[in-house]
Amino acid sequence: MSAKLISGKQLSLELREKLKKDAEAFTRESGITPGLAVIIVGTDPASTVYVRNKHRACLELGYYSEVHELPEETTEKELLSLIASLNEKETIHGILVQLPLPKQISEESVIRAIRPEKDVDAFHPENVGRILLGNYRFLPCTPAGVMELLASAGVDPKGKECVVVGRSNIVGKPQALLLLEKNGTVTVCHSRTANLKEHTLCADILVVAIGRPEFITPDMIKPGAVVIDVGINRTPDGKLVGDVAAGASEVASAITPVPGGVGPMTITMLMKNTLEAARIFAERRA
Ligand code: NDP
Repeated sequence: MSAKLISGKQLSLELREKLKKDAEAFTRESGITPGLAVIIVGTDPASTVYVRNKHRACLELGYYSEVHELPEETTEKELLSLIASLNEKETIHGILVQLPLPKQISEESVIRAIRPEKDVDAFHPENVGRILLGNYRFLPCTPAGVMELLASAGVDPKGKECVVVGRSNIVGKPQALLLLEKNGTVTVCHSRTANLKEHTLCADILVVAIGRPEFITPDMIKPGAVVIDVGINRTPDGKLVGDVAAGASEVASAITPVPGGVGPMTITMLMKNTLEAARIFAERRA
């Protein structure tokens, strides 16, 4: 058996086409062009690529885009001052600070400084709390992208055993909440989980976000499971691989590729959140 590939690349194209039309209609009605500001501190190569892709996606959709490239030695005060000015700026509806940040800057302070209505990453404690309560403005981009991928493949989490491996604040934890909201029975595994395989083998839907190349091997997957591989890892020879080993597609019924799976969806969901943030701005202004 070879698993069906769930293509995030294809789904992203379709969703971005729709978003472009929605944004055009919104701009016609409101006179507002959705605007996103992305801040990057330092020159981490992976972060630089992500920021470039976000800027490019904005331009493709007709959004206004600002990229603020700050030097590695930027102080927290300087960064907070830029965020404060973007919070007030009427042409900017979404603000994203690319993580990780240099060690002299507290991630928590930066996340808290972004006005919650402009927090298109949905990392601010207010937005995180809203997700927990099922009353959200924005969903965090990567887990939201995973939910779109599942829906596109006709996979309904309702009543299914859903296992999330990884419990980071940006992927694993919110992913578990979103699956729970869709009535999945959710187990969250992490580095201290005893006998991980016992859990993963129960999963009808397995979402893996650990950041370890090809860590989940085919013998850890229940035959017929749907596998979502969030991991993006670069091997010493420069190849991109996920957290799930290649042979998994012989056991799973459907699986996301790396690259071309969850990655493109993350940016697409960011574009969706930016349009939503512009709508929120328009409603408040009215
Ligand atoms: P983090 O490093 O923040 O978290 C990793 C999680 O995996 C932790 O909860 C950790 O457990 C758990 N973990 C680590 N090793 C093991 C293990 N051996 N067994 C079980 N659990 C383990 O990573 P992120 O969540 O930020 O990212 C995870 C992966 O997803 C990375 O490859 C990243 O590049 C990728 N990613 C991809 C995105 C996309 O758009 N496709 C977006 C964001 C991330 P513990 O908490 O106990 O330490």
